[in-house]
Amino acid sequence: MRQYPGYLFDLDGTIYLGDGLIPGADRTIAALRGRGASVLFLSNKPIARRASYAEKLTRLGIPASTDDVVNSPLAAARYLAADHAGARVMLIGEQPLIDELTEAGVTLTGEVEDTDILLVSWDRQLTYDKLHRAHDALMRGARFMATNPDVTCPVEGGRMVPDAGANIAYLQACTGRELEVMIGKPSPIITRMALAEMGLQPDECLMVGDRLDTDMAMGETAGLDTCLVLTGCTSREDLRASTRNPTWVLDSVADLLAAEN
Ligand SMILES: [Mg+2]
Repeated sequence: MRQYPGYLFDLDGTIYLGDGLIPGADRTIAALRGRGASVLFLSNKPIARRASYAEKLTRLGIPASTDDVVNSPLAAARYLAADHAGARVMLIGEQPLIDELTEAGVTLTGEVEDTDILLVSWDRQLTYDKLHRAHDALMRGARFMATNPDVTCPVEGGRMVPDAGANIAYLQACTGRELEVMIGKPSPIITRMALAEMGLQPDECLMVGDRLDTDMAMGETAGLDTCLVLTGCTSREDLRASTRNPTWVLDSVADLLAAEN
C-alpha cells in the first residue's frame, strides 16, 4: 500500500466497535497524523452530533475535534442550505439532525402544503402520522431526499435495528415515487464535502471502512482507492460473494502501516 496524503475513516466497525476501540486503531491514527497526513472521520449515522463523536474518539484515545468529523446530518444541512436555499423541508429524523439543519438556516415545516423537500432519516420516535404526512407531501410533488441508505444499523450490544433505509423503502412502496437524492455514503455529495474539507483530490485519498455497500461503494464511485477492514460488518465470505473490489483488504485498521511498502 502506498502512503496517501489523506485518509477517510468510517467509525463504527472500523475505528471502534460499539464502545470499544479496535485494538491498535489509536496507534494507526497517531502515526498517520505524525507524518502529516490529513485524517477525517466519516459517519453515516444520523442520530448524533459531530461533537459527540469527537468526544467519544478522544475518550477512546484518538484526540479529535468536531472539525475532524463529517457525518450525514452535517452533509444534509450544508447541501440543503447551499443547493436548495429557501426550500421548506419536512423531516423524518431526530433532534441532532434537526439542530444541524436549523443551525445551517434550513427552514423546517410540518405542513404538507408547505413542503418543498421531504428529507427521510432514522427516527426512533417514528409514528404513523409522520409517515402519513410524508406520504402526502410526496404525492403533492415534494422532492424526495434521504440522509443515509442503511436499512439497519447496529446499536449498543450489536443488535441491528431499523434505520433510514427502511423508511425510504416504506415511502417508495406506498407512493410509487423513487428516492431522488441520497446525501450520505455512498453519495458523491458527502464525498465531495469530505474531500473539500481536506483540500484533496480523490486520487490523493484512501477510504477505509467495514461496509461494502456504503464505504467501498462510495470510494469506487468517487474514484478513491478503498481499503476494506474485516473488524465490522463484512467477512471474507461476504467479500467473495460481492461484486465490489476494494483496492486493499486488511484484517484491521491496526495493520494499515504494516501494509505500506
Ligand atoms: Mg462502519
